[in-house]
Amino acid sequence: MISSPNVGAMIVRVEPLTKARALRGPFDYLVPEGFEPVQLGDLLEIPFGPRRLRGVVVELPGRSDLAVEKLRAPIARLDGGISPELVELARWTAAHYCSTLARTLGLVLPPGSAGGSASKPRRRLLVAPVAAPAAPRLGPKQRAVLAALAEAGHELEASELQAQVGVDRASLRRLAERGLLGLREERFDRRPKTLAIGRAAGPIRLGEEQRIAVDRICDAIDGHAPRELLLHGVTGSGKTEVYIRAAAHALGRGRGTIVLVPEIALTPQAVSRFIDRLGDGVAIIHSGLRPGERADEWRRLREGRARICIGPRSAVFAPVSELGLIVVDEEHDSSYKGDGDPRYDAREVARVRAAAAGAALVLGTATPRPESWREFERVTLSERADGSALPPVELLDMRGRAGAGGPLHSETREALVRLRHHGGRAMVLLNRRGWSPHIECSDCGTAVGCSDCDVSLVMHRQVARLACHHCGHSQPVPSRCGVCGSSSLARHGTGTEQLARTIAELVEPVPVFRLDSDSVGAAGGHAAVLQAFGEAPSGVLVGTQMIAKGHDFADVRLAVVIDADATLRFPDFRSEERTFAMVAQLAGRCGRGTDSDARVLVQTLAPGAGAILAAARHDAAGFLSDELRRREQLGYPPFRSLVSIELGAEDHRDVAAAARAYQAAIAAALPTDSILLGPAPLLRVRNRHRRRLLVKSPSAEREGAIRVIASVVAELAATAVGRRAAVAVDVDPA
Ligand code: ADP
Ligand code: ZN
Ligand code: ZN
Repeated sequence: MISSPNVGAMIVRVEPLTKARALRGPFDYLVPEGFEPVQLGDLLEIPFGPRRLRGVVVELPGRSDLAVEKLRAPIARLDGGISPELVELARWTAAHYCSTLARTLGLVLPPGSAGGSASKPRRRLLVAPVAAPAAPRLGPKQRAVLAALAEAGHELEASELQAQVGVDRASLRRLAERGLLGLREERFDRRPKTLAIGRAAGPIRLGEEQRIAVDRICDAIDGHAPRELLLHGVTGSGKTEVYIRAAAHALGRGRGTIVLVPEIALTPQAVSRFIDRLGDGVAIIHSGLRPGERADEWRRLREGRARICIGPRSAVFAPVSELGLIVVDEEHDSSYKGDGDPRYDAREVARVRAAAAGAALVLGTATPRPESWREFERVTLSERADGSALPPVELLDMRGRAGAGGPLHSETREALVRLRHHGGRAMVLLNRRGWSPHIECSDCGTAVGCSDCDVSLVMHRQVARLACHHCGHSQPVPSRCGVCGSSSLARHGTGTEQLARTIAELVEPVPVFRLDSDSVGAAGGHAAVLQAFGEAPSGVLVGTQMIAKGHDFADVRLAVVIDADATLRFPDFRSEERTFAMVAQLAGRCGRGTDSDARVLVQTLAPGAGAILAAARHDAAGFLSDELRRREQLGYPPFRSLVSIELGAEDHRDVAAAARAYQAAIAAALPTDSILLGPAPLLRVRNRHRRRLLVKSPSAEREGAIRVIASVVAELAATAVGRRAAVAVDVDPA
């Protein structure tokens, strides 16, 4: 039965904001005559069974399949709705990543929308001086207030005066009533703090290649050129300046910009450059903000008071209206792929959003992904903006040196010692993927492992504990082997902690700074370490891959990669790409400015590996063409697309049964040229046994395969077998 409402009333289709996969909307509601006007994207409070929920209007269907008399009315319309454009984006994201609309709406809505405490705008009281106040008989505090105002010559915040002079609001009001000062209340935004780190930029005249790039992007924004492009600029070629000019151009056309950066905590420099140049029109959105700051930045964007948004992957969903440009800086960075539900890829979402908005899409990097290299038109910046050369890279063969002289090659040690005498900065990257300090029994060879995950526990000397890097379990170092009882337990592997100590002994008294996820807890901690390193007259920064993320420091004369091939030893089709990017990016931090004697040392057990050789030659084009050939032969992206289906349960029989059920159902429905691999066992994590199925499809069948998987997941999740295992679908797994 299909029914239409009376004149004046309106049917809206609402998606309730709940995490439960089982509760799938949308559901119809009847907005009665006299209710506030309701639009697509509005946030409503709705009755749902005996409960009240929040939900978003996702359709305005005009009529309902249910009888109008049976439809319930929304309770209220709330602040904080979204544009129809973002409703569409949430819809696409849910479908493409096999998630639910409720979850993806959670990504486009301001934080806290689903329930409870959406943060309210803050107001503040401002106190203004008045010219020549006649001031008979005042108390000392009152006189102090007037003196402070006269001295400032402009408005002061009431809270500031309160702190300085100890005067309360009531006395301020009395003074205002006597005409001795002015008072007004205004809304104000809580703004995140930013730090100035690294080289200061003087006034900049664009180089020829930069100018061509800026023009090309501006043409794309104006719709005079294809909208998508890859900005392939060597490290230090001034890509940030290109983005800033392009964003300013978009702004001049009344259009907004989103700039995605890998991780705000690790890229404070790019952020502060945007803010320096484009001022209050820039909003920053990331998870490290306090809730109030986040809500206010969101509000500034939604109300159009800020038109440029900078943030990590989640900022691709920011409420920037009339979007003219999306920039993905360091597009090769793995942080653009999420690991929650949905496991979206911000680069892919950016592409879809830009296309829908008619905006330009710029992916920028010195080390493009093979996918982007093949897919996009390229604009190249082949030289560094300051005219410096890319530093020479030397490979140091570590074969046959196991145990001899610790983790550092003699050349590396000498170079570090030289730093002590000649000054300058050095950066030392320990490629720790899969190689961490752990404790092993010298008698039976068993490593001390996590009780809930199939991995070794990692030694943290500072706190004298062993920790699991998968589940967070931690315990004291045991005195005996849990398997054979032997008490000869020994340390193996090098961590950043030990490396930093070794280096500190070599370079003393030059300070050593450590940057990794253990050394700095809070989000602000990373920036503080980077700032300290940038401000010290001479120093060594030791850390994991984090230290290679786009930083622009002067006077880095030495960059070292320890165990460059550790990433290659990982059985992953992206190993080559990651290794190349890591070495090339670290090398790229080196020799900026006028320095000419900078060098890069790469310690490796695989000095002949293609990815490492290409990085040493600064040869991205050569690496990418080889890598694309290899990917084509092996049937990997971008020639085949991948979707993984991961199952997990505490009981291994439940996982096995679910894996069989998923395997059968998917195999039966896949398009003809797609293949299904697995189930393969994965490491147990958090006491969950895991299995993985992998679907490989040619690009023409990609969407079809995703649809099949989505419907199998929806179907099986409701069966007895399916319910006993958790399922996570990963489209384009990283
Ligand atoms: P990239 O992101 O391409 O690695 P950056 O954007 O960090 O490079 O720029 C490298 C340095 O060059 C920065 O210190 C920046 O201020 C400077 N720079 C950019 N463009 C110019 C220019 N046209 N002239 C001089 N210096 C520039
Ligand atoms: Zn033992
Ligand atoms: Zn664990």
